[in-house]
Amino acid sequence: MFESLSDGLQSAFKSLSGKGKLTESNMRDGLEIVQKSMLEADVSYSVVQDFMGHVSEKALGKRVLLSLRPHEELVRIVHDELISILGPVDSSLHLKSEGPTVIMLCGLQGSGKTTTCGKLSQLLKEQDIKPMLVAADLQRPAAIEQLHVIGRQLDIPVYSEADNKDPVKVCQNGVAKAKAEGARVVILDTAGRLAIDDELMAELAKIDKKVGPDQVYLVVDGMTGQDAVNSAGAFNDALELDGVVMTKLDGDARGGALLSVKHVTGVPIKFIGTGEHFDALEPFRPEGMASRILQ
Ligand code: GDP
Repeated sequence: MFESLSDGLQSAFKSLSGKGKLTESNMRDGLEIVQKSMLEADVSYSVVQDFMGHVSEKALGKRVLLSLRPHEELVRIVHDELISILGPVDSSLHLKSEGPTVIMLCGLQGSGKTTTCGKLSQLLKEQDIKPMLVAADLQRPAAIEQLHVIGRQLDIPVYSEADNKDPVKVCQNGVAKAKAEGARVVILDTAGRLAIDDELMAELAKIDKKVGPDQVYLVVDGMTGQDAVNSAGAFNDALELDGVVMTKLDGDARGGALLSVKHVTGVPIKFIGTGEHFDALEPFRPEGMASRILQ
């Protein structure tokens, strides 16, 4: 998934390796290749600027330039900076000890919200926790049925109301039902749109305010590069996000969005989606990701 970023960084490191001691100008050339490869991998400009600021300050310091293997030092510096920009780690769902924990998923249409409801449910089931799903995407006619299909596949209850056009009411009724039935987790599958619009944001903000979910996760499609970053910014402005789930990182996503979205939202990337099946959800691990990028 990170081919272009990995290739770019490798060529930066290669251009410096075997040179032994480096001049500042050698190192600046290498850093320029690092910067170019990040921009080519769809990492947003402000993130690259920040990243390069930290990396350059360390890489151009005397300690690194005078070291015996400066290019290896640069690999280490880039690795550490990737971890810092991708972190912190927090893949906990922060379940409450009493009453149902309400998790609201939001994101653009097609980002993978409904699939992620299934994946999180599977994860919970593996821990012997049975969640309840609430079909609050009243925009897309097939969404309610899609959630019921998932419910049947995973043998978990799905709350929906055929004739209710008010997603806030549906969520409130769903949470009340979950409480009455003693469910420990309720996952709200909210509506998306093909692009950000004010109506969607107002609807989600209203659910957030009136239902008061314990956790609000933004689901973003990692394949959409810069668009993912822009939409993450808009969702982050409208809602109090607690985390991000980035989907479709099994495809040929260029990976840059992963670096940028964390920076833009300031909330942890909790999980990554790596396939269409319910078991294709991984807790996000910055170290593993940084190593994959630098492979
Ligand atoms: P929603 O509109 O946000 O609810 O999106 P859906 O859950 O319906 O997902 C849209 C499409 O993306 C479906 O075809 C899913 O199978 C697919 N999808 C979701 N997550 C992933 C993932 O992590 N990897 C891949 N390859 N496909 C995914």
